[in-house]
Amino acid sequence: RVMLMRYDIAIIGSGPAALSAAINAKIRNKSIIVFGSKNLSNKLVKAPVVDNYLGFSNVTGIELMESFKKHLDNLDIEIVNKKINNVYAMGDYFALMSGQEMFEATTVILGTGVEFTRAIEGEETFLGRGVGYCATCDAPLYKGKTVAIIGHTPDAEEEANYIDEIAEKTYYIPVYDMEKTTGAGDISENIEVISSKAVKIEGETHVNKLVLKDREIDVDGVFILKDSVSPGVLVPGLEIEGAHIKVNRDMSTNIAGCFAAGDCTGKPYQFMKAAGEGQVAGLSAVSYLSKLD
Ligand code: FAD
Repeated sequence: RVMLMRYDIAIIGSGPAALSAAINAKIRNKSIIVFGSKNLSNKLVKAPVVDNYLGFSNVTGIELMESFKKHLDNLDIEIVNKKINNVYAMGDYFALMSGQEMFEATTVILGTGVEFTRAIEGEETFLGRGVGYCATCDAPLYKGKTVAIIGHTPDAEEEANYIDEIAEKTYYIPVYDMEKTTGAGDISENIEVISSKAVKIEGETHVNKLVLKDREIDVDGVFILKDSVSPGVLVPGLEIEGAHIKVNRDMSTNIAGCFAAGDCTGKPYQFMKAAGEGQVAGLSAVSYLSKLD
C-alpha cells in the first residue's frame, strides 16, 4: 500500500477553536493538517456584530473571518476543504476518513462546533440500517436503488449528484431555500427535488419509507447531510456528556491523543471561549507528542 504522510496533529473544523489550535501548533513547529470549509464557519459568517472579542470591538463576523484568514496566510496554514466523516483510534495514531480518502495523524483535535438541528424520528433507530451521514462513503450499497437525501447546506448537492450516478432514483429534500442560496442550483436534472419537510423515517429491519409533511416516499436509504456530524458518530468510543464531548482541564478526551475545543465541549457558545480552548488543546497536543519520543 502507499505510505501515507503521518501528520503530528490533524485538526477537524475551521472555526475559532480549530484555528486557534492550528496557529499554536504551527508556532511550535508541528506538522498539521486542518480540515474545514472555505468560509471557515457558518456561525462566524452569520454573526451580525461581535462586541466581545478582545481587541476587536464592533466588528462583523465577516470582518473577523477576514482577520482569521490573514493570520492563517501569515503562518502558511492551509485549510483542506474536505469533510471528515470518521476518525478511528488505531493505537499509536488516528485514521481519518473523508469519503474514500484516508489521512493519518498521531494526534487529533476536534473543533467541530455544535449542530442545533434535532434528529428526525427514526434517524437513530435506523442509523447504519439505511440511514447514513456520508453519501460518498455508502453510495456503492445503493446501486440501482432509491435514495432520499436531506441536504442541510448547498454542499450536499454535490453528494446528491454523486449518489444519483449510482442509484436508480434520487430524491433531494433541501432544508434551506435553494432559490435564495448562492452556490445552490448545480443539482442534476435527474434528481427529483421535493420542497417539504422530513418528519419520520420508517422501516422493518431496514429503512423502507420516508414520511414528509405532505407525502410519503418509498426509499431504500436516507442520507442526512449536515455541516457536522455528532461527535459520537464522528469518533467511535468518544465519551459524550449530554450533547457535548467530555473533556478534562487540558482539553484531553477519554481517548489518548484526542483533544477537543470550542462549542463541541459545551457552553458558553462564544468565540473567545472557543479560541481559548483551542489554544489549550493545541498546546496539550504538542506536550503529548513530546512525551512520545
Ligand atoms: P464553529 O465556529 O461552529 O466551527 C466549526 C466548523 O468546522 C464548521 O462550521 C465546519 O465548517 C467545520 N467542521 C465541522 N465538522 C467538520 C468535519 N467533520 N469535517 C470538516 N470540517 C468540519 N459568539 C460570540 O462570542 N460573540 C458573538 O457576538 C456571537 N454572535 C453569534 C451570532 C450568531 C448568529 C451565531 C450563530 C453565533 C454567534 N456566536 C457569537 C457564537 C459563535 O459563533 C460560536 O461560539 C463559535 O463559532 C464556536 O466556534 P467553534 O470553533 O467551536 O465552532
